[in-house]
Amino acid sequence: MAIRESPTQPVTVQGSHRNLPPAPGLPPTVGLPVSTYRQRARRRLWAADALTIILVASVAVAVALFLSDGGAAGFGSFAGMLTSMGVIAGLAAMDLVLVMFLLSARVPIIDRTIGQDKALLVHGSLGEPILYLLLAHGVLLLLGYAATEGITPMAEALSLWASGLDLRWAVLSLVLFVVVAVTSVIAVKRRLPQEIWHGIHLLTYAAVALSIPHQFSLSGLFAPGTIQRWYWIALMVLTGAAVLTYRVLVPITRSLHHQVRITRVTEVAPGVATVDMTGRDLARLNTRAGQYFIWRFLTPDLWWQPHPFSISARPTPTSLRITVRNLGTGTAKLMNIRPGTKVAIEGPYGIFTEAARASAQVLLIGSGIGNAPIRGLLEDLTFPHGGATVILRASRPDEVYLLDEISALCEQRGARLFVLTGPRATGNSSWLPASAVASGYTMTSYLPPEQVPDVYVCGPLPWTDLVLDDARHAGFPSENIHSERFAL
Ligand SMILES: Cc1cc2nc3c(=O)[nH]c(=O)nc-3n(C[C@H](O)[C@H](O)[C@H](O)COP(=O)(O)OP(=O)(O)OC[C@H]3O[C@@H](n4cnc5c(N)ncnc54)[C@H](O)[C@@H]3O)c2cc1C
Repeated sequence: MAIRESPTQPVTVQGSHRNLPPAPGLPPTVGLPVSTYRQRARRRLWAADALTIILVASVAVAVALFLSDGGAAGFGSFAGMLTSMGVIAGLAAMDLVLVMFLLSARVPIIDRTIGQDKALLVHGSLGEPILYLLLAHGVLLLLGYAATEGITPMAEALSLWASGLDLRWAVLSLVLFVVVAVTSVIAVKRRLPQEIWHGIHLLTYAAVALSIPHQFSLSGLFAPGTIQRWYWIALMVLTGAAVLTYRVLVPITRSLHHQVRITRVTEVAPGVATVDMTGRDLARLNTRAGQYFIWRFLTPDLWWQPHPFSISARPTPTSLRITVRNLGTGTAKLMNIRPGTKVAIEGPYGIFTEAARASAQVLLIGSGIGNAPIRGLLEDLTFPHGGATVILRASRPDEVYLLDEISALCEQRGARLFVLTGPRATGNSSWLPASAVASGYTMTSYLPPEQVPDVYVCGPLPWTDLVLDDARHAGFPSENIHSERFAL
């Protein structure tokens, strides 16, 4: 197929789409009224705000319970103040660790309101403050206890160490937190294989388990009969139950029930393959194109690697489809995986879907393997004929993955398609090709006048950030801007 392209004219695709499979039951071509989208978006944002308030308030409740349970009296002396501040730092850290666990537990309400990928971003951003709070907890308590007893901090440290196993475990727990925090720093994380990093990251659960005995045995903080004791036991049990349910039990039962298997692997470009899968009762999963699963392909050398991949076509009650680019050791093996291979699934996750809509029109922007969920969205979203614009961006024409399928869908659904190839502007200052930037084009140059669409973006991270900046610069409300980042 040949494409004639111009920076602001939709591409004319020459050639036929005869060889493509017919798209099964496309969504209605009449979009919903704008007010319906707005109401839905507002409801979701309120729910997200409410969730954020509850999570932040949990820290305030933990501190308030301590202060009302005698902690406030500690502020009467310098030593008491150090001790109380140390306790508060520890309680805040523990509370945030539980919040972190909940954010990564794949709890459905969190996924439906803020999206699992965004939840994981917040999860990652809590690591550093938690580490500082834990270090402050240790130092302030040591100084506070030493000042109370009138001995040096070193003597206090030795006496605490000798006091029993609970405190030694707490120290080991702190060491584990430091290891997890250091390996999560982006520069270090990038150098470690994903699986090793993930294995180290799981030590956080061990760190929390090791810290629990000292919380209940030292200083009588959670003494029997106190409200604090019941509050913390409830928080820990609920968080543990959420992690066990949604990270372990639900994926196992879903994998056993749906019996997903690979039916076909088709190379769609050098190093890029579409993997078709079938399974039982898939409608029950309510999967939408644009969501992602964490997949485990059950071959001897791949079963232990969980990989997130997005749905690249409208799911049916019997089929799921992903499109994968060979970017490393696991994805290289996937290129030749055999039909019939069983697949364990975790998901579907994310709201890079119809669920995020705030407007009747859509603008879909993809680059590289980011075209995979963009293709799925083009097939799955509801919009009126002519209500969608698709922009595919690549350095070279052979990197415009899934172009045949996307252009066929654009034709069927009346969407305008722009294929923008060529090098980026100097200094990577724009997501558009240098030629478009030189002509003064921005995102709105590709849209009908006055249109404020939902913008869906998926592509390499720095490029995605430039697209998002352009969307904000165009004055699009934040609830209209949606992105999927291929990095958890
Ligand atoms: C939400 C989401 C959706 C994605 N959708 C797609 C998709 O539709 N098509 C596609 O080709 N790719 C997608 N990816 C990226 C894909 O998961 C990685 O490219 C793949 O897991 C790399 O595995 P590997 O063993 O080949 O790479 P490795 O050799 O292990 O690493 C190559 C790169 O991939 C990253 N990576 C490896 N494993 C993971 C993981 N479990 N989670 C996140 N990043 C990882 C590494 O940090 C590294 O940068 C998606 C990622 C995310 C987070």
